[in-house]
Amino acid sequence: MDLEYTPEEEAYRQEVRGWIERNLPGDYDPDEYFSTPDVDHRVKVALAWQKKLYEGGWAGLGWPKEYGGRGASVVETQIFSEEVSRARAPMTAINFVGIAMVGPTIIHWGTEEQKKRYLPRILSSEDIWCQGFSEPGAGSDLAALSTHAVEDGDHFVVNGQKTWTSLAHYSDIMYLLARTNKDVPKHKGISAFAVDMKSPGITVRPLVQVTGDADFNEVFFEDVKVPRENLLGPKDDGWNVAITTLMYERAGMGGGLEFEHVLNQLVSRAKQVRHGGVSATRDPWVRQMLAQFIIEWNAVKYTDLRALSKQMRGEPPGWEGSICKLGSSGLNLRMTDFATELLGPYGQLTRECALAVDRGAWIRQALMARALTIGGGTSEIQRSILATRALGLPRK
Ligand SMILES: Cc1cc2nc3c(=O)[nH]c(=O)nc-3n(C[C@H](O)[C@H](O)[C@H](O)COP(=O)(O)OP(=O)(O)OC[C@H]3O[C@@H](n4cnc5c(N)ncnc54)[C@H](O)[C@@H]3O)c2cc1C
Repeated sequence: MDLEYTPEEEAYRQEVRGWIERNLPGDYDPDEYFSTPDVDHRVKVALAWQKKLYEGGWAGLGWPKEYGGRGASVVETQIFSEEVSRARAPMTAINFVGIAMVGPTIIHWGTEEQKKRYLPRILSSEDIWCQGFSEPGAGSDLAALSTHAVEDGDHFVVNGQKTWTSLAHYSDIMYLLARTNKDVPKHKGISAFAVDMKSPGITVRPLVQVTGDADFNEVFFEDVKVPRENLLGPKDDGWNVAITTLMYERAGMGGGLEFEHVLNQLVSRAKQVRHGGVSATRDPWVRQMLAQFIIEWNAVKYTDLRALSKQMRGEPPGWEGSICKLGSSGLNLRMTDFATELLGPYGQLTRECALAVDRGAWIRQALMARALTIGGGTSEIQRSILATRALGLPRK
């Protein structure tokens, strides 16, 4: 693993850094953006930023040029992510499903007509996509899904329910998994569809989370007509289409670069807080905790770089993605919990209170941190993947 960047790559980093500095709006306040529970505000800021990225040619960085992307290398994509994280620019999360997951899936599985129809509108964020996979009875065991699509002439008729659908209430199209064949083993009778969210029969009901935000939703389907041409990939082979998507989801989540900022902020707050009249960093317990977090963060960071080196050698992404997801989400959970202890009761006040530290960011992040150990595959599932695939341990 070579940790040095070439002079060309360093020049590219400066180009990216300069572009971000010149294009982030003058009144952009990252602390406000990352701490507000106002989803409308976050979506508005993120969409405006996405539009700038698109106009500047920075949307779909790793997509092939023929489909409107930049054709960037693995290292260039990593450098771009590092610089976005360093500047704390708005996340591309508003269309993460479209850009990081659906686009590459359509490039792999879609027809030429579908590529022309969907890809440019994903890059420009004219179409925001959501991911309709999870159901009340199918999360970790996704293949148990029961929402079904029945063929009827030139369309399918969909009935059922999805849940935890992030940003469905802001989305134009859902990437839906539905059962199209009940008479075969459960992995073999699923199909993938692009569903217009304005179709009659769709009801979206936002769910309010413990943070007070309403980021995700329940989505109900009642006799929803989906045209046959919206089938993504072959009928009944949606499981393999979904595997492609989940691989891109994991790769798009990366090593959790944003958690480095949490760590730096935590160290900075520990220096300011006084315990018994002296800086909290003089307290051996605090020092030990911070040292442990720094060690673990570096372990995650270098594991992520190891995965990057593999990709540069043309090898497929391995189980490093599971280590990074498990390591970074668990570390974030313990860091933010520790912050609320370190800061005492003031650290647990929410942003409405004038005495709240950092506009209530710590308690908000501590509550959000739990979700990150679940979304994109729970910690238990990552451990199972590592136990069986990386370590080769027996199942029983
Ligand atoms: C912030 C967030 C955003 C999300 N966004 C979306 C979205 O946009 N679209 C979408 O489709 N889904 C989304 N999800 C859903 C997410 O994919 C599921 O929550 C996740 O897959 C877990 O499924 P579940 O909630 O049904 O829990 P379950 O699968 O029921 O799991 C419950 C508990 O049992 C454990 N468990 C389950 N099976 C096993 C096993 N085999 N071995 C050991 N332990 C096990 C789990 O780890 C967990 O602790 C989101 C979730 C979150 C938190």
